[in-house]
Amino acid sequence: MIVAGAGLAGLRAARDLADAGVAVTVLEARDRVGGRGYSVSLGGRTVELGGSWFTPEHDQVGAELARYGMSFRDYPPVRSARWLTAGELRLGAPVPWHELAALEAALARVRDDAERVAAGNQTLAALSAADYVDQLQPSDALRDFLLGWWQLMGGASPQHGAASDALDAIHQHGGLTGLLTCLAHGPLPGWSALAEAMARDVVDLRLGTAVKTVEHGDAGVVCTTDAGELIEAGALVLAVPLNCLPGIGFEPALPPRVAEAAGANAGRAVKVLMLVRGVDPHGIAVGIGPGLNWLYADTAEDGCVLVTGFGWQDDRFDAATRGHVERALRAFHPDAELVNWAQHDWIADPASRGTWLTAPAGRIDLVSPDRFDPVGRIAFAGSDMARQHAGWFEGALVSGAAAAAHVLR
Ligand SMILES: Cc1cc2nc3c(=O)[nH]c(=O)nc-3n(C[C@H](O)[C@H](O)[C@H](O)COP(=O)(O)OP(=O)(O)OC[C@H]3O[C@@H](n4cnc5c(N)ncnc54)[C@H](O)[C@@H]3O)c2cc1C
Repeated sequence: MIVAGAGLAGLRAARDLADAGVAVTVLEARDRVGGRGYSVSLGGRTVELGGSWFTPEHDQVGAELARYGMSFRDYPPVRSARWLTAGELRLGAPVPWHELAALEAALARVRDDAERVAAGNQTLAALSAADYVDQLQPSDALRDFLLGWWQLMGGASPQHGAASDALDAIHQHGGLTGLLTCLAHGPLPGWSALAEAMARDVVDLRLGTAVKTVEHGDAGVVCTTDAGELIEAGALVLAVPLNCLPGIGFEPALPPRVAEAAGANAGRAVKVLMLVRGVDPHGIAVGIGPGLNWLYADTAEDGCVLVTGFGWQDDRFDAATRGHVERALRAFHPDAELVNWAQHDWIADPASRGTWLTAPAGRIDLVSPDRFDPVGRIAFAGSDMARQHAGWFEGALVSGAAAAAHVLR
């Protein structure tokens, strides 16, 4: 068998196949495993350039960590919040006091709408986050508050991402602030360490080997790598990101249900890990800022707090430029001193072409998991296509296990 992609989905599929006695070759485009799970060291701390958190419901992640004897950390509960709304930094309420009744009404409406989406209201779910918030007729401050929270779940700008993911998450976690329960745990040695442990169970792993074309038929598959090598197998588990599918040629072409979805992940988030002095630990900062909109201050170590900031792709903000990062940070924390920072451009990276799964506004059907049922000898895997916990590491593991089970059958 061939598995293309050594993120958690591909590694899980490969290991399950190997456990069942099947010879597996894993082809991975990058020179590392782990995909959108990518840990690096910043000021002596292990930080996550890709995904960080898993929730108490993520059983598969828990099981993988236990299997490799890895512990996880609990993120401490948030103790304080500050808001950047309508251009003003607020340390008390997120909106001016005379707008509190409107805030309460909006929160109640968002909760009701989340129930409607959970009950199947596709029209509401497909609205862009910007249109969804606009129809609440918010004040400027209320709009910035709501969109700031949307940043936590929505990986695309409010104009491009559908409201569905955020409303789903609000339904599951009981209101806006319930979203904080998503930030529960993280693997202590980092996601890269977990991926590397899983990769040690794979005998034939070829790094720096991207699949360029796939010929497939009743008898099996032939993959051509970017170096021109031909590799044949009885079946292929294709565990590459949804936005990398357009870069692979298929003969015969994939059916329209899949071909149309290729590249549909609207996730274009920016994540910056900042080592900072002058910021209290265990706080959040939410609103609309110059580049970053949702910031989380972690624990303090050696006088520095690790602040994780999220924004959306924006030509005016370059996460690799110190001045831009400082400005974005200080909009929320005016006294902060940026000691150092790290980031990875997942959008420009040809092996991801985007961040976590975010449904495109107006076309949430494009990321429906039903589209990714196997095509002949090709089984799809990946958190972008998962039937449960899509967009999360958990979804990657669930989908990898399902693809392996299908191939074995
Ligand atoms: C900034 C950011 C923050 C996130 N935050 C969280 C979080 O807090 N919690 C959470 O659960 N999830 C989070 N996620 C999502 C999570 O990281 C992903 O859902 C998960 O890592 C996806 O795993 P995967 O195996 O499906 O895909 P990937 O990890 O993307 O793996 C796919 C692999 O395919 C390889 N590949 C691509 N093209 C080819 C090719 N042609 N041939 C061979 N190999 C190829 C890639 O190099 C990659 O290794 C975040 C993601 C990002 C980017």
